[in-house]
Amino acid sequence: MIVVMSHCATEEEIKAVSAWLEREGFQIHLSRGVERTIIGAIGDRTRLAGSGLEAMQSVERVVPILQPYKLASRTFQAEDTIIRAGGLEIGGDTIHVIAGPCAVESREQLLQSARIVRDAGATMLRGGAFKPRTSPYSFQGLEEEGLKLLAEAREETGLLIVTEVMDTRTLQLVAEYADILQIGARNMQNFLLLRELARLDKPVLLKRGPSATIEEWLMAAEYIMSGGNYNVILCERGIRSFESYTRNTLDLTAVPVVKDLSHLPVIVDPSHAIGRWRYVPAMARAALAAGADGVMVEMHPKPAEALCDGSQSLTPANFEAMMKDLRRFAGAMGRKMP
Ligand code: PEP
Ligand code: MN
Repeated sequence: MIVVMSHCATEEEIKAVSAWLEREGFQIHLSRGVERTIIGAIGDRTRLAGSGLEAMQSVERVVPILQPYKLASRTFQAEDTIIRAGGLEIGGDTIHVIAGPCAVESREQLLQSARIVRDAGATMLRGGAFKPRTSPYSFQGLEEEGLKLLAEAREETGLLIVTEVMDTRTLQLVAEYADILQIGARNMQNFLLLRELARLDKPVLLKRGPSATIEEWLMAAEYIMSGGNYNVILCERGIRSFESYTRNTLDLTAVPVVKDLSHLPVIVDPSHAIGRWRYVPAMARAALAAGADGVMVEMHPKPAEALCDGSQSLTPANFEAMMKDLRRFAGAMGRKMP
């Protein structure tokens, strides 16, 4: 439930109500808006029966949150969350493009990619150093060497780094290098990993599991938020369906639905959804039209030589053309692109 404090509630009154709720066994999450403070209280509501909480002068009203996810819900926070990372604001007016190769393969490949995507207007560089591959025989990533190359690319271009962390064992290491920690689709319900991420204050890009419902996805976000890390960006990347012509089915319906249910920023990854580079620009445009706060796209200087996901990677020229288009689309949606 949320306890909406009266607009004239004093700091002492807010503290007193929070302390009272904590004594009753509730976990407290404070949200300070411009006009009012809201106390999110997670716990057993039956303990409030006859407590007189609503009769307190400093309390305006008590609202139950009916959804199983609480902190991620719009009931808890009506305004959109804006995530601040390295001078960027994600979830505000600006549309962000996260772009780069599927995997970090070499110094030359990564630095070249970084320059290309930066020059075309991307604000963040993607690239996996730890790769979750279906086959144990496929390229698994350069690991720490890859992270070092990402840091070098950030140094040179000023782009923020988005890279995947696959397990709790390597979390500290990846967190030392990444600006935004990506949780891959296959790990969306790795609850131990989500709990560890909750202890950091680094933004998390949480990809939707290939078979996850919207509710399961928001519950995964709730794991991270309930542990104290509110910096969650949701990423739709396609779900499993009967269709085999495309790699997955991009569920763009999820964008307006999640934006309605939750205040968290949503970005779309058309590359992993469709799996074919030819269709990526069209779905990136569609993502913006659906209300996404940005897109994540794979670009490789030489897709035919890529060690991973070459068939869905845009060439530099195709990426630049897509960016020009997206800029016009963002304008038409009343949004900006840097
Ligand atoms: C990726 O972004 O490189 C990736 C592996 O994506 P997903 O987890 O969505 O499959
Ligand atoms: Mn990939």
